[in-house]
Amino acid sequence: MAKTPNSFPQACPCATSSAARGNIRRVERSANKQLTEERERLVSGAPVEDDSSFELKLRPQRLAEFIGQGKVKENLAVAIEAARSRGEAMDHVLLYGPPGLGKTTLANIIANELGVYFQPTAAPLLQIKGDVTAILTNLQAKQVLFIDEVHRLQPVLEELLYSALEDYKLDIMIGQGPSARTHTLEIQPFTFIGATTRAGLLSSPLRSRFGIVLRLEFYTPEDLRVIVERSAEILGVEVDPAGAIEIARRSRGTPRIANRLLRRVRDYAQVRCAGRIDEPTAQAALKLLEVDKYGFDEVDRRLLLTIIEKYSGGPVGVNTLAAALAEEPDAIEEIYEPFLMQAGFLSRTPRGRVATQMAYDYFGIKPNARQSSLF
Ligand code: ADP
Repeated sequence: MAKTPNSFPQACPCATSSAARGNIRRVERSANKQLTEERERLVSGAPVEDDSSFELKLRPQRLAEFIGQGKVKENLAVAIEAARSRGEAMDHVLLYGPPGLGKTTLANIIANELGVYFQPTAAPLLQIKGDVTAILTNLQAKQVLFIDEVHRLQPVLEELLYSALEDYKLDIMIGQGPSARTHTLEIQPFTFIGATTRAGLLSSPLRSRFGIVLRLEFYTPEDLRVIVERSAEILGVEVDPAGAIEIARRSRGTPRIANRLLRRVRDYAQVRCAGRIDEPTAQAALKLLEVDKYGFDEVDRRLLLTIIEKYSGGPVGVNTLAAALAEEPDAIEEIYEPFLMQAGFLSRTPRGRVATQMAYDYFGIKPNARQSSLF
């Protein structure tokens, strides 16, 4: 089975000694601590504690309000229009890409544009067959069922979905032992939308059941500037174009981070600069928040420096790197790396991670001849 992020080692039935239980608790505590730290990281694409109340206000509701991702929007506009004109449920959609790029937002928009009920859930919340059966038997006709983190769906639950996705049928077992019988239930036609940050972990039978597979890309600073200006208007904050682009450039191509930085800069502007965000205000606030001009924070710098200083620039395996940084390999692969690679500071080779020339330049360190030959 694919390894799931933040999964803990399962206690083996015979491991009942208090030492073993103590070890498991320690592992759980350290993983929870990392999760909390990640939640509090200002430039994390994953949601942090106070994001949810603001995101509800800032989330675009229609496709026309959704900024950037031109190709994705065009594909969806065609599929939505076709489904609407046929009066059928839309094809199932898989949305994948790093956290904070708008997967949940798009799923919500699809339901709004189709004019159907939107039912969101997340794979880790579905624990037993009964959870999935209850959802599938209560579906409304043509509604959208959205499952976030779909790569974390347990294999038995995934299998239950297959026939539902293919021909809107659900096989359930009635009774137990020799008298058990399978019963096939008809369910309402529906649109399944799965979102994942790790498309590679999806099983091929599940992947093949999505008619539309769309990858979300990091946003350009220009798109993020428009997002910052839109959010500022909703929040009632005055921001000029230079102030907005300054926040946009440091948002790691991610709308969730752009919105979060905007809120923090707004606080600074209110206290120090009469509430208006211009370029010097944004720069001063972001300096105080320790987010540099690339959007890097302490964690990124530590990751790059570790590769350069401890592993001579790489290649270094993700597990070794995770151990050196006291982080989870999943967090490195899912959250830290994608942006560093996209920005050109890190490359992923079959033998491990390598710091690029740009990473050396960033720290003002000169690579030696062996390292230069890797670039
Ligand atoms: P994901 O599900 O990919 O983690 P979300 O859909 O929850 O990301 O998006 C996070 C926040 O970013 C949303 O609340 C929304 O305000 C904002 N957002 C995402 N994409 C866009 C976009 N294209 N235009 C405007 N805001 C966006």
